[in-house]
Amino acid sequence: MSQQTTIRKLAELVNTPVEKLLEQLSEAGMSFSGPDQVVTSMEKVKLLGFLKRSHGKSDAAVDEAAPKKITLNRRKVQEVTVAAGRSKTTVNVEVRQKRTYVKPTDAESVATNWQSEADPERAEILRKLEESRQRNLDEQQRLAQEDAKRAEELERRRQEEAAARAEAEAARAQADAEAAALAAGAVAVDGDESVRPAKPATQGHHVPKTVVRKDPPRTDDRNNAAAAKHKTRGSHAMVAGVEDDDNTSRFAGQLHLSAADRARRGASRGKPKPPRRHEQSRGGGGAHGFERPTAPIVREVAIGETITVADLAQKLALKGGDVVKALFRMGVMATITQTIDHDTAALITEELGHKAVRADANDVENELLAHSEEQQGDKVARPPVVTIMGHVDHGKTSLLDYIRRTKIASGEAGGITQHIGAYHVETPKGVISFLDTPGHAAFTAMRARGAKLTDIVVLVVAADDGVMPQTREAIQHAKAAKVPLIVAVNKIDKSDADPLRVKNELLAEEVVAEEFGGDTQMVEISAKTGQGVDNLLDAISIQAELLELKAVEDGRASGVVIESSLDKGRGPVATVLVQQGTLKKGDYLVCGIQYGRVRALFDETGSQPPSAGPSIPVQVLGLSGVPEAGDDFVVVADERLAKDVAQQRDAKRRESRLVQSAGSRMEDIMAQLGKGEGQLSLNLIVKADVQGSVEALRHSLVALSNESIRINIISSGVGGITESDANSAVTSKATVIGFNVRADASARRIIEANGVDLRYFSIIYDVIDQVKQVASGLLGVEIREEIIGIAEVRDVFRSSKFGAVAGCMVVEGTVKRNKPIRVLRASTVVFEGELESLRRFKENVDEVRNGTECGIGVKAYNDVQPGDQIECFERIEVQRTL
Ligand code: GDP
Repeated sequence: MSQQTTIRKLAELVNTPVEKLLEQLSEAGMSFSGPDQVVTSMEKVKLLGFLKRSHGKSDAAVDEAAPKKITLNRRKVQEVTVAAGRSKTTVNVEVRQKRTYVKPTDAESVATNWQSEADPERAEILRKLEESRQRNLDEQQRLAQEDAKRAEELERRRQEEAAARAEAEAARAQADAEAAALAAGAVAVDGDESVRPAKPATQGHHVPKTVVRKDPPRTDDRNNAAAAKHKTRGSHAMVAGVEDDDNTSRFAGQLHLSAADRARRGASRGKPKPPRRHEQSRGGGGAHGFERPTAPIVREVAIGETITVADLAQKLALKGGDVVKALFRMGVMATITQTIDHDTAALITEELGHKAVRADANDVENELLAHSEEQQGDKVARPPVVTIMGHVDHGKTSLLDYIRRTKIASGEAGGITQHIGAYHVETPKGVISFLDTPGHAAFTAMRARGAKLTDIVVLVVAADDGVMPQTREAIQHAKAAKVPLIVAVNKIDKSDADPLRVKNELLAEEVVAEEFGGDTQMVEISAKTGQGVDNLLDAISIQAELLELKAVEDGRASGVVIESSLDKGRGPVATVLVQQGTLKKGDYLVCGIQYGRVRALFDETGSQPPSAGPSIPVQVLGLSGVPEAGDDFVVVADERLAKDVAQQRDAKRRESRLVQSAGSRMEDIMAQLGKGEGQLSLNLIVKADVQGSVEALRHSLVALSNESIRINIISSGVGGITESDANSAVTSKATVIGFNVRADASARRIIEANGVDLRYFSIIYDVIDQVKQVASGLLGVEIREEIIGIAEVRDVFRSSKFGAVAGCMVVEGTVKRNKPIRVLRASTVVFEGELESLRRFKENVDEVRNGTECGIGVKAYNDVQPGDQIECFERIEVQRTL
């Protein structure tokens, strides 16, 4: 409300050239040096007064033309009553009148109170106004339809009109002022938007035609005088209330909308005239009578993929209700807050006589790009980023664990390394960063997102097992990504290790060891004993040197999200790998569709480094939401840009998801229809605990599609399985996969009631393996986990003898002491292990049934909390089905 309006802004608001406005201001006796000067409320009032004084007549003309005489008569009466107390000026008459009814605090309330008075006579007037407005509206809509049909002709007329306007340049100046005065006065009189359409001016380009088809203008002097007086009074009523920009923009809207009228009148009158009311009324009326319909204002409206009806209405300078009506006529039912797609919006825009253009959705992105490009500097050597790949059980995790355990300098947090998705180690030959998510799934997921993170792939091959399918896969991935390989021939501590055989087998895959004349370094290691691991790190450093990896170290950081999750206590947590620049606490950043200010940085030792440079992974707190693994992040100078970019990306992403999901549903239907044989499809819904796993699963599972079966991921996401997941599983006949997450009670009900196939996993490979086997038609026996009991933790007692004992209530099935368990918090697995103790009162028992209280001690886990669930499960053999 208290924002200051500059002349430029005011000009924009009233759709008048800045120069013209300046001119008018100076004519009104106010001198401004430039368009950026602030116009005060008083000055606006003065300008209005000036415009009003000099152009009362045109108002009368329009009032004559429009069916608003009722208003005038009514007001006249009022005026007479009140004017008796005032000798000359009518300025404050209405204000005083109003004051007798209400206690106006500002213009808004004055206007509203005027409206809301329980005066039957007024109500009648309003009703008639509304009726006439409706008539106008209908007429205009009808005309709009005709317009559409005659688009070509309109175009021609527009051109003619443009020529006419050019000729009548001088006249237009005058008309502008009139229009402004008219609009200002009109608002003041009507006092509220609800009656605004009674003024032809608000009807945009349809006005001219409407006016042309109206009854001939009246020249009754009495009426004119009344109208003129009324206008004056009205204007001052408004003036009295003009205290802030809100009101200003209201009258500004009117000015703006009157532009067509303004142009028309300017053209028709031909020359500026001092505003003598009676003359003007005649002159104006005459011109109306003979004038051809003139060109409407054609607004160019930028529409993105979607737009809300309200936004569109605003862009078209129409009321939301009018757009809703127009949509309705086109057979589209939409409320004002509803979002319509680009095509519908474009259609309606054209229908209303305006021009739709596609919004450039990349505006903010370009700004971001420019912003980042500012950031240039000297490149310096940076550490390599390494991903470890290889066949299952060949020792990827063991190798990562070994390096992490032995090479990371323990931080302040008690020397315990944290799993943050990546870590970096310092070797005598330099720093090396490892992505701590082994396997090709994570790698391909990242690559699929377009993130080039990895500089070197370490391919782990067990010396006792040799080249296996996933070894080949990993080689292909590395080759496709053009990332150099280093082979770690693992498990050489084992008696049946045969490194030479491994190297020979790799030859067949065109991975040739240096000793065979190739260029691939192969290092024999044992992830168990640590033998050869230093050599492996050396090999990585040598490879890195060859690659001459460089990055800008100074300035704003950018990079990629490696892993993300929602932490109950800390909020959204993302591990990012800095690729350029230096990330610092307090930086503003955009991260995919999220943004925020870095509240804290954590490294893999749990300590808080002040900053992180290129190739260094670091955990970031302070984002607005959980970004996706593979999302890029950029540090920006201010929060506004961060927010704008994030929000626009969010909107875009949602749009494209909508499109995608609509497409895939369609595909599913097509797939299910008409194909008794041929390709079958397996629909999956994937939910997981962290975004990285979701991405990894998505990509790996989709990649399993073959010519006989197609894997569709209906939906995927982070978090427990919800009712809506369950419902969508029912409709799409999908199998639900919960990776370290569980279905909540309402989801379970739906799943059980509809026989939805729900499977829980905690190892990515198991998911892939199972789906793969199903997909390859390898039916048979499979080991499945079945939950046999769930206990809810009500309270936790700590005893020196037993450690933490959870006081629980078994809420489902039976909890058995000798079966494996998992601890779930907010539907997410936080621990997997065994029971230490299961007690009823003070007795150890083997099982506790549903509805019974018990005490549970979890082996090797002391962090059970009230509200957790302890889930007891068993592994059973079941026949595979599709
Ligand atoms: P991943 O599936 O590739 O991550 O393999 P893991 O790291 O989980 O290892 C699979 C199994 O191999 C585990 O039981 C490890 O203890 C074992 N293992 C890994 N590396 C070595 C090694 O160098 N020597 C021996 N003897 N066993 C190993």
